[in-house]
Amino acid sequence: MDSANSSPAPRRVVLLGATGSIGRQAVDVIARFPDRFQVVGVVAGRDIAGLRALAERFGDARVAVVAPDPGAEVPHGWGVGLDAACEVAAMPADVVCVAITGAAALRPTLAAIDAGTTVATATKEVLVMAGEVVRARSRRSGARIVAIDSEHSAIWQCLRGEDPASVSRLILTASGGPFRERDPATFAAITPAEALRHPTWNMGPKITVDCATLMNKGLEVIEAHFLFEIDYSRIDVLVHPSSVIHSMVEFRDGATKAQLGVPDMRLPIALALADGERLPGVAPAADLPALSPLHLLPLDPQRFPAVGVARRAGGRGGVVPAVLNAANEVCVDAFLRGACRFDQITGLVGEAVEAAPVVSEPSLEDVLDADGWARRRVAGALALPAGAALAGPGGVGAA
Ligand code: MG
Repeated sequence: MDSANSSPAPRRVVLLGATGSIGRQAVDVIARFPDRFQVVGVVAGRDIAGLRALAERFGDARVAVVAPDPGAEVPHGWGVGLDAACEVAAMPADVVCVAITGAAALRPTLAAIDAGTTVATATKEVLVMAGEVVRARSRRSGARIVAIDSEHSAIWQCLRGEDPASVSRLILTASGGPFRERDPATFAAITPAEALRHPTWNMGPKITVDCATLMNKGLEVIEAHFLFEIDYSRIDVLVHPSSVIHSMVEFRDGATKAQLGVPDMRLPIALALADGERLPGVAPAADLPALSPLHLLPLDPQRFPAVGVARRAGGRGGVVPAVLNAANEVCVDAFLRGACRFDQITGLVGEAVEAAPVVSEPSLEDVLDADGWARRRVAGALALPAGAALAGPGGVGAA
């Protein structure tokens, strides 16, 4: 690590999903440390106006838009389409920040991994659906994967300087979302507007609904399994409504380490972009007396079965986590458009997980096949119009 007195070369950064919630916060971090970061590439799903502002700001950066709206005018020199996005992801860089929502991040993430570039990922869906493929390819290329997800960043911080053999379990904290105390008998009536009102974090719509069902925590259990190479039986979840403790690691001597901070994604973003270096003043320090007492509660599996469904998918392995992820993406998208009730989401995902075939040591093609199978199955169960909600890893989904 560089000493405080040296002036290291700026880290070359590629931003994928640059105009979404995490992407904008990454831009905010980068803008505050202009001598530490140099943006060399930016990619967005369809937001041409947002991308144009970033292209002006970052001068020489390569720019690609995955799926501009029909008729939209794309500036000269920009790449268009998923292949163009993958080319930007694979360009020479020190870190590729992946902040594309959902399965659409898969191919660009793999392009960065195959290029051997460190991937700082906020998109847990990639590790969930293709964790085994990602692991095999990153071993081959030497690419490292660093989590931006606050829980996994917390675990990464708790594990620094520790012997992996001394870890007894990981404890992910969950806010419990907006319906932690709502009568489950009324879950069928939950509207998208209610589900989008997260008590502690301000995020994009897909992940916010996942936080309301707690499927987000289920996806994070699978993400932790692949990131830290630890068995599912040693990953636990506790509900922590104030989101001050971001996660914990318990060690074999009985000690537990926790990482605390204000709920501000700029902290894990900055830490990941700077490869573990702590940059000054990224966020205000937590005012712990004002935030006390810090409650930790067991997860109620009856109220929120999603974590159990995800564990089941992870335990079955192979392509089943990809089925879990795809089924959930279709359900959430349908819920946001009024085509699926809130209380149907976890049940439909669970049925797909049980019906999914197990394919051991899946290839990328196996993963994509399973993804498509799950999307068609759930779209059929919800009687969605043909083609609706089927945008998968080849689709858009990026903010
Ligand atoms: Mg998280």
